[in-house]
Amino acid sequence: MTADVCGTAAGHSAHYRRGEPTCPECRAAQAAYKRQWRKDPAKRQRENLATAANQRALWRLAELYRADFERLNDEERVALGLAPIDREVNR
Ligand SMILES: [Zn+2]
Repeated sequence: MTADVCGTAAGHSAHYRRGEPTCPECRAAQAAYKRQWRKDPAKRQRENLATAANQRALWRLAELYRADFERLNDEERVALGLAPIDREVNR
C-alpha cells in the first residue's frame, strides 16, 4: 500500500476519500501526475482497466453484502448533503 502522504498523488486521493479539501502540495502533485498521465496512452489504458476492475469488484462486493453496502451508501449520501435512497420506491 502506498503511503498517503501530502505532496503526492496518493495524498490527493486520500484527501478526497476523507471528504476534506486538498492541500496545495497535493494539488500540485496531482496536476503533475495528470500531465504525465496524459502523455502516456499505454499507462492511461492500464489505469482505465484497473479502475474498471476495481469498480466491478466493488459492485460484486455490494451484491455480496447488500445491506452493509446500502447502509454505507446512505451514510456517504447524507455526508454529502443528499437524502438516503428511498428503497421502497426502487424495489
Ligand atoms: Zn495534502
